[in-house]
Amino acid sequence: MVEPLEQLHTALKSHNQSWTRPRQIVFSALAGREPQTMHEIVSACAGQVDRASVYRIISLFERLGIVERLQIGWKYKLELSDAFHSHHHHLTCLSCGRVIPFDESAELEGHLQHIARSKNFVIQGHQLEIQGLCQACATKTAPAQVHKKTRNDMRPGR
Ligand SMILES: [Zn+2]
Ligand SMILES: [Zn+2]
Ligand SMILES: [Zn+2]
Repeated sequence: MVEPLEQLHTALKSHNQSWTRPRQIVFSALAGREPQTMHEIVSACAGQVDRASVYRIISLFERLGIVERLQIGWKYKLELSDAFHSHHHHLTCLSCGRVIPFDESAELEGHLQHIARSKNFVIQGHQLEIQGLCQACATKTAPAQVHKKTRNDMRPGR
């Protein structure tokens, strides 16, 4: 497997972009992680790359297809593009912000292709972000039900 940093080097070179230390640091803050907010990326680079430079580098990475912007509700998060890890999607919890990645099934991919074909549309890429509540938050929002269950749960006393 090609090292992600080496892949970044190749991507920058192919666009006549220079290989700089701040670009490596911002890239490392994104590598191997699930989507992050701009704020989280700026914090991860704090002390090494200043805020304005992080914004500039992220915008360059977006233009070069290194980084993808995922729209989650009215906010967005950033993640390395499919070129740097396998194609996948996310379930995002609107309550605690937890991100659960999942791989796309061949069945789902096929279904998307089928829909596109029926509209004479050629897919060149897609994003599929799902918002809702994770198990922990879904349980919290239905306290009555949980309480009832606990009360009816016959536990032997000590
Ligand atoms: Zn992801
Ligand atoms: Zn949650
Ligand atoms: Zn997909």
